[in-house]
Amino acid sequence: MPIYEYRCESCGFQKDHLQKMSDAPLTVCPSCGAESYVKQISAAGFQLKGSGWYATDFKSGAKKSDAPAKADKPAPCGADCACHAH
Ligand SMILES: [Zn+2]
Repeated sequence: MPIYEYRCESCGFQKDHLQKMSDAPLTVCPSCGAESYVKQISAAGFQLKGSGWYATDFKSGAKKSDAPAKADKPAPCGADCACHAH
C-alpha cells in the first residue's frame, strides 16, 4: 500500500497515511477537525503554501505552534525580567 502524506492547511498538522489506492482521500484533519486536510503530491517536495510558517515541521504535529521555538538561545532580557521591575 502506498503512503500518502497529508497536511492540514488550517493548523499545519502533517502526517503520513497508509492507504489503499481505492481508499477515498482524507479530508478531515485528525488534529483540529477542520476539513482542510489535503494530500500532498510528494513527500520529497514540500510545498510552502500561504505564508508565515514552514511545512517542514517533523515533530509529528503533536504541538500546534505558530512560530518555531528558539530553544538554542536563552531569551534576552525582556519586559518581564526582574531587572526591569523597579
Ligand atoms: Zn488541522
